[in-house]
Amino acid sequence: MYVSESININNIGHLTIGGCDTVELAAKYGTPLYVIDETGIRKNCRKFVNSIKEHYDGNGRVLYASKAFCCKEMCRIVESEDMGLDVVSGGELYTALSAGFPADRIYFHGNNKTPSELKEAITAGVGRIVVDNKEELDYICSLAGTMNRTAYVYLRIKPGIDAHTHKFIKTGQIDSKFGFALETGEAMEAVKLCFSTANVELVGLHCHIGSQIFDITPFAHAAEVMIKFLADIKKETGVELRELDLGGGFGIKYKLADRPEDFSAYMKKVADSVKSTAREYGIELPYILIEPGRGIVGAEGLTLYRVGSIKNIPDVRTYVSVDGGMGDNPRYILYQAEYEVVCANKADLTRTRTVTVAGKCCESGDLIQENTLLQEVEPGDLLAVLSTGAYCYSMASNYNRIPRPPVIMVKDGEPRIIVNRESYERLVEDDV
Ligand SMILES: *Cc1c(COP(=O)(O)O)cnc(C)c1O
Repeated sequence: MYVSESININNIGHLTIGGCDTVELAAKYGTPLYVIDETGIRKNCRKFVNSIKEHYDGNGRVLYASKAFCCKEMCRIVESEDMGLDVVSGGELYTALSAGFPADRIYFHGNNKTPSELKEAITAGVGRIVVDNKEELDYICSLAGTMNRTAYVYLRIKPGIDAHTHKFIKTGQIDSKFGFALETGEAMEAVKLCFSTANVELVGLHCHIGSQIFDITPFAHAAEVMIKFLADIKKETGVELRELDLGGGFGIKYKLADRPEDFSAYMKKVADSVKSTAREYGIELPYILIEPGRGIVGAEGLTLYRVGSIKNIPDVRTYVSVDGGMGDNPRYILYQAEYEVVCANKADLTRTRTVTVAGKCCESGDLIQENTLLQEVEPGDLLAVLSTGAYCYSMASNYNRIPRPPVIMVKDGEPRIIVNRESYERLVEDDV
C-alpha cells in the first residue's frame, strides 16, 4: 500500500491499482498510460459529503473542482454522487453539459471569463456564477437583461489569508489576480454594486485560499473572516447573504512521508469556526460549500511509463528516461512537484538507487522527478509515478506533438477506457 488504499503489490511483485495488475494494463493499452481507480474516487466523494452531514447537519454541498481532472466519465461519477461541479471555462462547462450534468448544480469560476463563456453559462442556466471583477458584473447584468434572465451570483473574496504552500498555488492574499480584496473596502463596494445591479442576484460569497494545504488553521481562519464579512454586510446593508463557499485546496499524500489530516478533522474545525463566529456576530448559519479537486482524484491515479535509455554520468547522476514527460505531467517543471516513483514490475524489491527520471521532450527541465529512490531498473522496465490523478491529464499538452495518453478507469479488477489515446490524425485535424 503506497499513497492510497487502492494501490497494492500482488504475489508476483507487480504493482496493482483497483485490483488490476499495472504490468497487464501497460501490455494491453500501451504507455504512457494514466490509470485511475473509481472505487477510491467514490470513497473520497463520500468522505467529503459525509463530513458535512457529520459536522454541519448536512447544511451544505460538496462541489468537485473539475479542473483537477475533467472528462465526461468523471462528470457522470460526480453527478451520481449527488455533488455539484465547479467549472472555470467554457470547455469544462461544455464537457459537463455533454455528460448530462444538471446545469443548476454547476458553479462557474474564473478571473477572466470571456463574454462568450458568460453567455454560454447563462444560456445553460448554471446554478451560480462566481463573479471575480466589476467588468464581469457589468457584462452579466447586460447579458442577463438581454436574455430576460436573473443571474444568481457569488462574489469571490480575497480574505487576506496567507496559506503555506507554493506561491503559484496560493490565492487568498491581497497580491492575487483572483477576486475582491476585503481590507481595502473593495469587496464591500462590490457587494453594494451587486445590490444595485439589475438582473443580478447576489446570493453568497466565495473564497479559496490555495491548494495542497496541510494545515487546518488557515481554512478555519478564512471561514471566520468570511463570516465576519457576512455580518458586516448585514450591518451596512441589512441583507443577510445565505450561502458561503469556502473553496478547496485540501492537501493529499504525494510522498510517503506526507501526513494529510483526515478530512473529517478539517471539516470539524471549519464548521466549529463557522458556528462560533456566526453565533458571536449574530447571524444565521449559512449554507456552506466546499470545493475539493485534488482531494477527490489526486491519490487515486497513477501514470505508467516504459523505461528507454539509462544514462549514468559518473559522479553526476543517472538519468532514467521514460516515454512521456512534461506533456503528460507538467507539474515538476511548473512547481518542482514531488512524487513517489516505483518500478511497477519490481514493486516488491527495495528502492535502493537514487536516479533522476526524465521525460522525452526537448527541454532540459523536462523531468518527472530529480534524485528519487528507485529499484535497480533497466530499459523495458515499467515505471509508475503515483498520485497523478489530479492536474496531470487536465494540464497535459501536445508539446513536441506527442499525443496525450489515454485514461483507463479501473474498478474491482476491471479496466475500461474513459479517454482514448490521442491519435496522430487528431494532432493534425485542426491544421489547415
Ligand atoms: C483549484 C480550485 C479548487 C480546487 O483546488 P484543489 O487544490 O484541487 O482542491 C477549488 N476552488 C477553486 C476556486 C479553485 O480555483
